[in-house]
Amino acid sequence: MSAEYDYIVVGSGLFGSVFAHEMKKREKRVLVLEKRAHVGGNIRTERKEGIDVHVYGPHIFHTDKREIWDYVNDIARFRPFTYSPIANYQGSFYNLPFNMYTFYQMWGVRTPEAATEKLAEQRAGYAGINPKNLEEQALKLVGRDIYEILIKGYTEKQWGKQCTELPPFIIQRLPVRLRFDNNYFSDMYQGIPMEGYTNFIEKLLDGIEVLVNLDFIAQRDEWKSKAKRIVFTGRIDEYFDECFGALEYRSLRFEEEVLEKESYQGIPVMNFTSVDIPYTRITEHKHFLPKYGNPFTIISREYPQSWMRGVEPYYPVNDEKNETICSKYLEKAKTLTNVLFGGRLGTYRYFNMDQVIEQALEAVQRELA
Ligand code: FAD
Repeated sequence: MSAEYDYIVVGSGLFGSVFAHEMKKREKRVLVLEKRAHVGGNIRTERKEGIDVHVYGPHIFHTDKREIWDYVNDIARFRPFTYSPIANYQGSFYNLPFNMYTFYQMWGVRTPEAATEKLAEQRAGYAGINPKNLEEQALKLVGRDIYEILIKGYTEKQWGKQCTELPPFIIQRLPVRLRFDNNYFSDMYQGIPMEGYTNFIEKLLDGIEVLVNLDFIAQRDEWKSKAKRIVFTGRIDEYFDECFGALEYRSLRFEEEVLEKESYQGIPVMNFTSVDIPYTRITEHKHFLPKYGNPFTIISREYPQSWMRGVEPYYPVNDEKNETICSKYLEKAKTLTNVLFGGRLGTYRYFNMDQVIEQALEAVQRELA
């Protein structure tokens, strides 16, 4: 008996949607299953009061690869955008990433030479240490002031642990720019889809059968019997019934507020770097796209939280313990001949959107080879 579908794609996030789109273009029979009530995975936006709200956290598309930039712009129009968040520490503002503006705000230094001297002075006591934790690593890389003001509180909120309890590898590098340059990403192309990310995903899924509110795991044998191949972008540990143990994730909670004012903070993203404030960021969604004259604005406060079953897994926790467990799942995945694992949950890795698109395109090429 021939299968009903060539591919059943589990998950309508970026990986699943790009994969399904490419296979549909090649006249494959594709079905997408999505356990949430809507498509788009974590890049989903919802239009409210004329504003595209990034419901699962602020997303800026950026890439150094011309072919990926062209790919997304062939699907939907992206408006060039430069991400320049501000850090708010006890009411004082500092530009990010760490650059001459930040050093001027912090120490009053006006030249790269003066900033270099100040950085050397700040790092001096830690130069020879072999960092045992994140705090020591940060002190060695950038010294006391930047660590205390811009790193410590934010990181502790993000991970729910003291910096002295976190492993040093989390921050391998902390680039400092000795120029006045607030552009957070150094990639050549950067933008926001003009009609929102959901519109972009819907265009990718145009003409493809999609079932939402449907958890593949609950009826996996039935779905497997209907397709030649399964593309799984959910949690790899869940696919294998956590047989080697559950992997850990970090989660987030967003508190959204509609305000009757033109602008709340005047910038899309403000980071709150002091521990006194329980959230890490406030996103003011309207500033991602310049549309003027809207009397409303929408803000989201972002609260990191621990993950447990029933809440969304946002970030993998790639420490030694989880890496050991994950490698067992990845080995087991290789033994399955008709299931392909992809995306951030399917491979237990944090990826930016451009990387996810590239991986989905590569997976398509491998399938067709
Ligand atoms: P997902 O978007 O998670 O899609 C997986 C889908 O599978 C989900 O819809 C899920 O509901 C579904 N699913 C899971 N299990 C099942 C199941 N059993 N049955 C059916 N469906 C299932 N990247 C950038 O490039 N720029 C940014 O600015 C940026 N900001 C980010 C901010 C935050 C807070 C986070 C967490 C990530 C950010 N990223 C950013 C990364 C970006 O979100 C990812 O690259 C992208 O969303 C990954 O897509 P995906 O398809 O792998 O995963």
